[in-house]
Amino acid sequence: MPRRKKIYEGKAKILYEGPEPGTLVQYFKDDATADNGEKKEVFEGKGVLNNRLSEFFMTGLEQIGVPTHFIRRINMREQLIRQVELIPLEIIVRNLAAGSMAKRLGMEEGAALPRPIVEFCYKDDRLGDPLVPEEYIIAFNWASQQDLDDIVALALRVNDFLSGVMHGVGIRLVDFKIEVGRIWEDGEFDRLVICDEISPDSCRLWDIETGRKLDKDVFRRDLGSLTDAYTEVARRLGVLPSNVTHRPKPTLIN
Ligand code: 5GP
Repeated sequence: MPRRKKIYEGKAKILYEGPEPGTLVQYFKDDATADNGEKKEVFEGKGVLNNRLSEFFMTGLEQIGVPTHFIRRINMREQLIRQVELIPLEIIVRNLAAGSMAKRLGMEEGAALPRPIVEFCYKDDRLGDPLVPEEYIIAFNWASQQDLDDIVALALRVNDFLSGVMHGVGIRLVDFKIEVGRIWEDGEFDRLVICDEISPDSCRLWDIETGRKLDKDVFRRDLGSLTDAYTEVARRLGVLPSNVTHRPKPTLIN
């Protein structure tokens, strides 16, 4: 098999050259990182679960008319995506106070917000993805005012979709991060699309009844098995791959 050209390797994914111009192959690794890469661990099966979950969410978004980079899943760990010109922002939507917002404002985690809040962070690992005002984004030409208006509208549509899907399986969507890229159609018109991934790595998901965390905070805060939490999300959504099953630990009987 010919060796594929690696385009980029990130903390949780690798991008390879795709089979046709304008396409890439996105490979999901089992690696988890937190604290800007300082905390690292490998969770067997995480990449397989995130590949499936991201496929599920991206396909659902496409079905309601929200454009994404997703073309199709290739195998357990890889999906074919469209190559985009990435806007160097992490777009965060929050429904409840948690994480860095709760810390920054001294709020209780889980406190209600008056409405969904959209935040922008400048995507730069060396700087720890700092929160930036719109003024910076426009002044430094990372995106235009029109792009930002379109990005907020897209982010809120993603929020409504994901909140509804999660609510249907007893999960509260607390917050999430998306990335947006530009695709040039016929070399002339550009279109903004959702890219990267949507998975429990990039969302905060709390069980509505028990408050149990079902996202990457399980790893960030040492709350138990990350694979168990992601498997639970996939199981509820009916997207559990057949060979990543939850195996209960044997019970020792005296
Ligand atoms: P916070 O700003 O509270 O740390 O994160 C807000 C939301 O965005 C959380 O759901 C978190 O998982 C997600 N998020 C923020 N930064 C990143 C990042 O660099 N990578 C990923 N995968 N998710 C992020």
